[in-house]
Amino acid sequence: MNAAIESKATRETVTDIRRWNERLITFRITRPAGYSFVPGQYSRLGLAGEDGAMIWRAYSITSGPDEDTLEYYGIIVPNGLFTTQMDKLKVGDEVWLEKNLYGFMTADRFTDGNELWMLATGTGIGPFISILRDPAAWQRFSRLVLVHGVRHAEELSYADELRALRDAPPAGAKAELTLLQAVSREAAADHAQRLHGRITTLLENGELERAAGLPLTLDHSRIMLCGNPDMIEDTRKLLHARGMRPCRRMKPGHFVTENYW
Ligand SMILES: Cc1cc2nc3c(=O)[nH]c(=O)nc-3n(C[C@H](O)[C@H](O)[C@H](O)COP(=O)(O)OP(=O)(O)OC[C@H]3O[C@@H](n4cnc5c(N)ncnc54)[C@H](O)[C@@H]3O)c2cc1C
Repeated sequence: MNAAIESKATRETVTDIRRWNERLITFRITRPAGYSFVPGQYSRLGLAGEDGAMIWRAYSITSGPDEDTLEYYGIIVPNGLFTTQMDKLKVGDEVWLEKNLYGFMTADRFTDGNELWMLATGTGIGPFISILRDPAAWQRFSRLVLVHGVRHAEELSYADELRALRDAPPAGAKAELTLLQAVSREAAADHAQRLHGRITTLLENGELERAAGLPLTLDHSRIMLCGNPDMIEDTRKLLHARGMRPCRRMKPGHFVTENYW
């Protein structure tokens, strides 16, 4: 079995694990020489299941393009085939990494516009962590707005690092970063900066733009959507209604999307 796998994948080692809570995990693996990616892309990772058969799943790369190791951020899905195995990972364990890179949700899809909105639900924040760890987007855009929508505040992983980045942007940055957190299932009364509700509702009622202090416009705004397919579908409709169009392979547009399931 390994010969067939080795033709398309490499065997990497877990170097670091961070558990944000019982269900959310960030882990790093060794990075093979020549594995170069554009922030926003994803890997396909393989783990052996209970019966020894390999299970492959897509994972957005959260590390920056120049880091020595590859980082991923995942949720443990109850009874999930892959994530039940991922939950057991320890430093030193083996993870298979497909040699091919995947994904088109990268900032270079936008040929014009100067404000980048990144809308994520849950673990869909992953590609945006990579994008923000790379100076390129900070130099390309004048405004960066990251909206992280979660059900409960305990799912707001990476918040400290993001705040630190906002307060001390990479050298050469021209962009200002605005961070918005939207919590849908908890009252936000005790958190003045936190929005309450789903991203789509906050977009529809104008609260997102108000909180960012920035209107969405056809000329300036370019938008990335990642995570829950319902959020993406509902947001796509809202953007369409405002005259915005998806980027197509050869055609520029206003938004790009990536569904996680
Ligand atoms: C392009 C792409 C990139 C992805 N990147 C990531 C990533 O960076 N981090 C990540 O955690 N997952 C990511 N996923 C999802 C991931 O590939 C697996 O689907 C997930 O880990 C569940 O696998 P499983 O075998 O444990 O569950 P399965 O038994 O395959 O169950 C799948 C079900 O789990 C639920 N589910 C899957 N992913 C998520 C999620 N992220 N959040 C909440 N519920 C979910 C859905 O209900 C889905 O129907 C990505 C998917 C795609 C297509």
